[in-house]
Amino acid sequence: MESSKKEKIIKAGKIASEVRDYARGIIKKDTPLIEIVEKIESKIFELGGKPAFPTTLSIDNVAAHYTPSYDDKTLSKGLLKIDFGVHIDGWTADNAFSVDLENNEENKRLIKASQDALENSIKLIKEKLENNLSVNLTEIGTEISKTIESNNFFPVINLTGHSMEQYNLHSGISIPNIETSIDLELEPGLYAIEPFATNGSGKVHDGKPSGIYELKSEKNVRSPIAREVLSLIINEYNTLPFCSRWIVKKIGSKAIFGLKQLEENGNLYQFPELIEISDSRVSQTEHTILIDKNGKVIITTE
Ligand code: MN
Ligand code: MN
Repeated sequence: MESSKKEKIIKAGKIASEVRDYARGIIKKDTPLIEIVEKIESKIFELGGKPAFPTTLSIDNVAAHYTPSYDDKTLSKGLLKIDFGVHIDGWTADNAFSVDLENNEENKRLIKASQDALENSIKLIKEKLENNLSVNLTEIGTEISKTIESNNFFPVINLTGHSMEQYNLHSGISIPNIETSIDLELEPGLYAIEPFATNGSGKVHDGKPSGIYELKSEKNVRSPIAREVLSLIINEYNTLPFCSRWIVKKIGSKAIFGLKQLEENGNLYQFPELIEISDSRVSQTEHTILIDKNGKVIITTE
């Protein structure tokens, strides 16, 4: 791996860690979510990175993909998952943590379960690879599910970690949170590991549209506002996800019409919110790891 690429990955991770410490200090109950995400994203810029995707603040049964819209009035509460990413030239550090804003014992145990699962799975990966042994994706998933189940909760079976490449957050390999039949060895590369623990059924389904989008096609679109929004997306975000809040901030609320037209025209994909199927609470903890050719494992977001 050429060093400039590695340097960018390491720098993105350092910024993410610093922002995470900062975020832990500002998150209190009944704070507008928009205030929290704006502070997190400003801090990322201040430290010399860019958000790799919109910061998500998913509460309780919403497992992932909730980001406030520009006029959102929601206040922080419950079991809150804070998931954000930092990129340097498209090289991303993806990380997440959960906080309990209710002083609720079960929330705290759910958080511990996903933290333990992340810790144990990374420990397993390190022990194997740094001793020149291979590690199989299903061993990682088994370690995660075993750890969560030993905490008396369930892993969310249809959410996974993922390999990452430049400007590509999901570059093809999924890191399971359960035992699977996938007989694939973990190769050198950049990966996000992200266990989710729940007191519910252990599965998510699609909820409402999230206002988080990804560019699918640069094909032509007729209306001037849609064209303006499209060129902003291509220049600013490339193939990384972005949200309506960011676009409105740059060109005003008229951009909402442009986004709608681009989605209808097939230029954009809009992610749905992901909701636990029995509407139960979900915790998440996530780190990014870099594995080099010699099997050395660096937790970039530690
Ligand atoms: Mn994440
Ligand atoms: Mn991730």
